[in-house]
Amino acid sequence: MRANCWMGRGKVQVRDVPDPQILNSHDAIVRVTSTAICGSDLHLYDGFIPTMEKGDVLGHEFMGEVVEVGPEVRDLRPGDRVVVPFPIACGNCWACENELFSICENSNPNAGMAEKLMGHSPAGIYGYSHMLGGFPGGQAEYARVPFADVNPIKIEDDLPDEKVLFLSDIFPTGWIGAEMADIKPGDVVAVWGAGPVGQFTIASAFLMGAERVIAIDRFPYRLHRVEEMGAEPLDYEEGIDVPDALRDMTGGRGPDSCIDAVGMEAHHATPMYAYDRAKQATRLETDRPFVLREAIMSCRNGGTISVIGVYGGLVDKFPMGSFMNRSLTMRGAQCHVQKYLRPLLDRIRRGDIDPSFVISHHMSLDDTPRGYRIFRDKQEQCNKVVLHP
Ligand SMILES: [Zn+2]
Ligand SMILES: [Zn+2]
Repeated sequence: MRANCWMGRGKVQVRDVPDPQILNSHDAIVRVTSTAICGSDLHLYDGFIPTMEKGDVLGHEFMGEVVEVGPEVRDLRPGDRVVVPFPIACGNCWACENELFSICENSNPNAGMAEKLMGHSPAGIYGYSHMLGGFPGGQAEYARVPFADVNPIKIEDDLPDEKVLFLSDIFPTGWIGAEMADIKPGDVVAVWGAGPVGQFTIASAFLMGAERVIAIDRFPYRLHRVEEMGAEPLDYEEGIDVPDALRDMTGGRGPDSCIDAVGMEAHHATPMYAYDRAKQATRLETDRPFVLREAIMSCRNGGTISVIGVYGGLVDKFPMGSFMNRSLTMRGAQCHVQKYLRPLLDRIRRGDIDPSFVISHHMSLDDTPRGYRIFRDKQEQCNKVVLHP
């Protein structure tokens, strides 16, 4: 089959690879009909996630048609249409029983590698390094889906792919970002990152009753998009100090909730940015936590910080004094997607939200390398690329 493979820093290539096989009696094989490029794929593309190997098949946002099932799969049959969540969960461990699917204790066969960096291992993730399981991803014609009765959601009506594909990651991720921020009706919420995940976070924050959402980014076309969603844009490249600006916009108190939808490759036009770049380049820190620092420093006393931007390892100059002395709460997670599939699908069906609003580009699988390039370099006003194998 054809698949998009990681070939080293800044290089992906669509190549012929072996077809996936049923390896376990609970597996299914899915013929991919739509798959997307995610902001977190760019961390792999830019070479910041360790334990990638040349030839790894990328992609963790995909959906399609079941073509084969293992002998012990009960609920899926060939011909079923499914969306597949990006974290792989077993359905039976303590974490899965508590709906914490992205920290499933059984789905990462390389848990020992993750334990070295993180202490304990999270779940396996499709197409996201060997430390997270080495599972071939879904930017391919076919994908193997483990624990097939636990993970995918069947789409039984005629909703088109583009309305349901983002249940695989970015819609639930935006939702949990807002949920972890503990938003109450009337709250002011600040969201760093106005990309696709930030856009779903903003939509979710409004659905949860936020009165105002302030969106921080540096690309005018993305700020324009979120302004149309009702958010107040804040362009940090206009030489402003973001925590100062947020104080001014909130009567001196700061936002009630601050959400980091950027993660490890934050940009900024200050000396601190050069400091983080240098430390990251020499592997003295794995992540550039500029947004995290700003979110903590900006948040009102007693407020909540929610982290959904992806971090890989260690950060430097973490404002611990601000966090502790000002009674802040901080929460983070890779989204427990399986928990949100049904309720968010119901919202799509009811017309509360049409997730296809994020799509800026449709491409064939063979065009994937161009998709990565324009998404990373923010060319052609690229917001979200959907690939059709
Ligand atoms: Zn994603
Ligand atoms: Zn589990």
